[in-house]
Amino acid sequence: MDYDAAFIGAGAGGYYSALHLLKNKKKVLIIEKEKFGGECLNYGCIPSKALIELSENINYLQDMPGISMQYKIDMKEWQKWKESMISRITGGAEKLCLSLGARIIYGTGSIKDKNTVTVNGNEYTAENIIIDTGSVPVKVKGIDDVYYNREILAIEKIPKKLVIIGGGYIGIEMGTAFRKLGSEVYIIEMKDRILPEIEEDLANEVDRKLRKLDVHIMTNSKVLSVKKDNTYNVSIEGKDDIVADTVLMSVGRIPYIEGTGIEKLGIEMDGRFIKTDLHKKTSIENIYAIGDVSGAPMLAHKAFYDGYVAAENIMGNDTIVDYRAMPFVVYTDPEIAFTGKTGNKYNKVPVMANPRALTMNQKDGFFKLYYDDDGTITGAGVAAPRSSEFITEISMAVEAGLSIDDLFLTVHPHPTVSEGLKDVAERKN
Ligand code: FAD
Repeated sequence: MDYDAAFIGAGAGGYYSALHLLKNKKKVLIIEKEKFGGECLNYGCIPSKALIELSENINYLQDMPGISMQYKIDMKEWQKWKESMISRITGGAEKLCLSLGARIIYGTGSIKDKNTVTVNGNEYTAENIIIDTGSVPVKVKGIDDVYYNREILAIEKIPKKLVIIGGGYIGIEMGTAFRKLGSEVYIIEMKDRILPEIEEDLANEVDRKLRKLDVHIMTNSKVLSVKKDNTYNVSIEGKDDIVADTVLMSVGRIPYIEGTGIEKLGIEMDGRFIKTDLHKKTSIENIYAIGDVSGAPMLAHKAFYDGYVAAENIMGNDTIVDYRAMPFVVYTDPEIAFTGKTGNKYNKVPVMANPRALTMNQKDGFFKLYYDDDGTITGAGVAAPRSSEFITEISMAVEAGLSIDDLFLTVHPHPTVSEGLKDVAERKN
């Protein structure tokens, strides 16, 4: 065989998995049809967080009593900076793979049979094949020529009026950022609330803040058509049309398998996802699937984790995934983070009681800790500044079977936002 492992797709899961194999002296082929690093690094997590960071910093100063400021945004310049920042990350990962001996081929990879992949008309054999082809945005029939995540994150002018179709996490993150950068924002959601996929009290914090920021939230609203002339005309069932210069479509993502040839191989599917077992093996023993294409949650760190587990199994170590304490983050205002599951009991403490948050002029949100009757921590939901930076504390507590007393008695530095976790772990008598 030419290789120990051949990757179809160099997204978050693919390159991370490849690196683990390479560090363990395996021969690796990576096939990528677009950009090294996939959606997360090039068009998703990284550019969206850069934009959110910019908008939050501007908004922070604007909101601070006693501060007045004037500023000008040159989005073209910012985009140049963003691209160079991304290249630093993607280029670094690619160079590291190459330096460890990987072969990287750009082109669309297909699987011919269980040990053969093809790219650019050539065939290569591998003991194992890993499918990491990711996901793409859902497109709605008849609604064309709108912006998706890639286009909106490459924008060179802040929209004057932005309509966002879909109130899931991507739409809400983008809506918050562009509102803080000065756009008039409309969010249209079919369900009865925004962020329908997350716990209601967490979502309500974001809803309240968006309304404070004068974002127009339209729930129970169905978009009938979007017509583009010089501007966009968005028609909504039972409501007035909205005319806007930019329309972002963010109604979800679906796994991507086009061109991989997996239909011919008879690999079992689970709906649109490639079905895998806990080892991340597909129905064909030596073919693995990782990341977005292999099931929810569609998150970069889940893709990394899948990739690590697949690599471990390829190296002969019997390793399985356990998503029980998977952290989820929505980079909104307040920032939402949750992990684990609900328990029999919970404690809740408001952000208002957190001195560090107050130094940041942040008062909205709460810390909620779930636990069982015997005090074992089962999960948490946090709406607080930088909650993404400390939610893993609870993931680790769940993984380790720690109790609320363990958490409360762990000394937390003062003042930090994470102190809220210690406070919420205090026993109620
Ligand atoms: P991808 O990153 O999608 O990579 C798949 C790769 O496969 C692509 O490079 C593609 O070109 C390539 N490919 C596909 N078919 C072939 C083929 N036949 N041959 C060769 N190559 C092929 N997740 C988070 O955890 N945190 C966040 O903050 C976050 N923010 C996001 C913001 C936005 C706007 C978006 C859109 C997504 C965000 N995500 C976030 C989700 C995250 O981007 C994905 O979960 C992650 O990229 C999945 O990684 P992956 O390896 O499964 O696939």
